[in-house]
Amino acid sequence: MSLTKKILIALVFGVVVGIGFTFVPESIFSNIDTYVLTPVGQIFINLIMMIVVPIVFVSIVLGTAGLGEPAKLGKIGIQTISFFLVTTAIAICIGLALAFLIKPGAEGVFDIGNASYEANDAPPVMDTIINIIPDNPISSMAAGDMLQIIAFAIFIGTALAFLGEKTQGINRLFEQANEILMFLVTLIMKAAPYGAFALIASAIGGAGLDAVGSMGAYMGTVILGLFIHAIVIYSLAIWLVGKGNPINFYKGFFPAMSVAFSTSSSNATLPVSMRAAQENLGVSKEISSFVQPLGATINMDGTAIMQAVAAVFIAQVYAIDLDFTAIIMIILTATLASVGTAGVPGVGLIMLAMVLQQVGLPVEGIALIIGIDRLLDMLRTSLNITGDAACAYIISENEKRIQAKAK
Ligand code: ASP
Repeated sequence: MSLTKKILIALVFGVVVGIGFTFVPESIFSNIDTYVLTPVGQIFINLIMMIVVPIVFVSIVLGTAGLGEPAKLGKIGIQTISFFLVTTAIAICIGLALAFLIKPGAEGVFDIGNASYEANDAPPVMDTIINIIPDNPISSMAAGDMLQIIAFAIFIGTALAFLGEKTQGINRLFEQANEILMFLVTLIMKAAPYGAFALIASAIGGAGLDAVGSMGAYMGTVILGLFIHAIVIYSLAIWLVGKGNPINFYKGFFPAMSVAFSTSSSNATLPVSMRAAQENLGVSKEISSFVQPLGATINMDGTAIMQAVAAVFIAQVYAIDLDFTAIIMIILTATLASVGTAGVPGVGLIMLAMVLQQVGLPVEGIALIIGIDRLLDMLRTSLNITGDAACAYIISENEKRIQAKAK
């Protein structure tokens, strides 16, 4: 049986068993969760996390060195960031439109009297920009600070491109390190069906279906937004801009989407999503290794959809009217929040506090959605990494066409 089939079965099985757990007594579930599901799931996450930092570093060094002149890197950088920003803004508009149409917060019983949420202060934007350049690359790697690792790797890669022949030995070393890491991803993916099953059963069993209750309309609105974005926006982009077949794209990328679904972490999924893009979709190594790590760090369309729906939902629950300025504020701040959201579970919700604060909506409204957020996180993370792969695929296909023409 192919790995994709095995993962698919594990996914379905995980969902069914997770729902089943919501009917058994809490103490039984918690024992199974503590001694079986959590250890199996966590070992799987650790296995992939183990290679995330080396893979990001090595592949970006190679990618930058392979692109050659800095001008080419600049061109691809501009295309990538434009794609990320435009698709994120579209995602937010879809979320807003659906939330205004469906009105998930207008009806139902919501306990706003007891809602409380402590928002952390968002770091100043200037600090975030200054800190992209690491003062100590080793501590950036130890802390897993993706943007800093990316910046350092681009410097090293540029130096390798300039020095050419002189640094051939090191170049070769990076190439071989990359081979080793990709081999390890293939190996680790063999554990994916078991890891995915354990993580999904644990997340669904732990969240409990009774938490869904009056949140059903909110969840349905977010999920609808995620599907529209995947099926309409990405498919159109792949088809019209990348001249590719969206069905083949989704077939090839499915293993990565399922790992994102089970881990709820773009960062943890990165090795798998890069491998799926390079080996199943034919994305060039240089472009995949530049676009996907960057995307896993700053491009979160799924998170943006959740934030847009959540902002309108909270406004509706608290009966606050959103005028045109508030809507523009949501689009701007949710785009920034998606850039600032780290690719780890649950951060999208923390960044939502910033959006609400900027728009003047009650931050304690987050308490209403926190109980079911883990379930939505699974789905939105799958969309987050799909956006990065779609971008890498489109840029790579267009580059191939430009090169073929030049010949
Ligand atoms: N879990 C998401 C990710 O890793 C981020 C979030 O929305 O919380 O992409």
